[in-house]
Amino acid sequence: MTSLPVLPLSPDAPGRRPALPPRHLADLDLAGRQALLAELGEPAFRAKQLSTHYFGRLVRDPAQMTDLPAASRDRLAESLMPRLLTPVRELACDGGATRKALWRLHDGSLVESVLMGYPDRVTVCISSQAGCGMACPFCATGQAGLTRNLSTAEIVDQAVYLAGVAASGAVTGSPPRLSHVVFMGMGEPLANYSRVVDAVRRLCTPAPEGLGLSQRHVTVSTVGLVPAMRRLAGEGLSVTLALSLHAPDDELRDELVPVNQRWKVAEVLDAAWDYASRTGRRVSVEYAMIRDVNDQPWRADLLGRLLSGRLAHVNLIPLNPTPGSRWDASPKPVEREFVRRLREAGVSTTVRDTRGREIDGACGQLAASETGSADGR
Ligand code: SAH
Repeated sequence: MTSLPVLPLSPDAPGRRPALPPRHLADLDLAGRQALLAELGEPAFRAKQLSTHYFGRLVRDPAQMTDLPAASRDRLAESLMPRLLTPVRELACDGGATRKALWRLHDGSLVESVLMGYPDRVTVCISSQAGCGMACPFCATGQAGLTRNLSTAEIVDQAVYLAGVAASGAVTGSPPRLSHVVFMGMGEPLANYSRVVDAVRRLCTPAPEGLGLSQRHVTVSTVGLVPAMRRLAGEGLSVTLALSLHAPDDELRDELVPVNQRWKVAEVLDAAWDYASRTGRRVSVEYAMIRDVNDQPWRADLLGRLLSGRLAHVNLIPLNPTPGSRWDASPKPVEREFVRRLREAGVSTTVRDTRGREIDGACGQLAASETGSADGR
């Protein structure tokens, strides 16, 4: 049996004091930015100007901020918009509709984000931690362990940066405006709770304070950290909660999602139904289809019984290949039978597309190495 991973309650191990990421306007609400500018001896209205450039116009180059006095542009941009993400590599596939960005953070940590264009919307999948401490054996991110929590601005900046890429028309066949954000990149969002909730608020507050997305278009995914799920239900947010379930029984889930050794299937589903009833939002249940591991008809029936009559939707994810994994995706006929049984139980079910597979940008493939095998196209 896999042992329980250490939960990253405190990101910094004692004795090691890594430098914090640079402070950025996206770490602060508008009032905080105004206070900071006052400290710097600048008029408070500059906070709105800078915020409009960053969130409203997606501009980060001081030379383009022509409404600011030329003499102070660089200094202002440096103090409120320091560079947080240095692009290391961008890979594209699906004819340009999927793009994976690899970033280096100020301390050398690497994280990834994925931009996905559809005919009617553009979604960005962002990371909340460098690495992940949850140790799910089928996920590439989980194999390397946790490096650290990202700051609020490091999380937000992934979305803002890629909103700029989308606005440039780079996502072929899609609208130019970023509309959806999913916290399904590297890391366990609810293990970096306050920064993730702050980031959600910033992404959803109208410009110039934030990016102005609809809360309904934001999804926060979790392995099932029950106390944090219950806390999130009380934040007054209407974001979608995705629960990475992957098994309907404790015996198997203890292995596939090791945190299940702490919070069992029944407890995690209870917390999910609490979230659904308090927010009115349907919970998205994620289930990676792993051949001969969790794809048996009896498990479909058990899952159907657990979810039937609940405010839930099942997203089956064909298992994506990860280096060294002993597991494969379920064969299509097995997957179809699983879907049929869930639907027969009255549970709404879809199979997720495997966007970004060729560039290791699909679910569970983000591992942020600089020596990826795929070619940029
Ligand atoms: N830690 C959070 C956020 C990551 S979301 C969570 O687990 O929910 C990434 C989603 O992809 C999760 O549902 C995860 O379980 C799933 N996943 C991980 N590895 C996968 C793989 N190899 N194939 C398909 N899905 C995978």
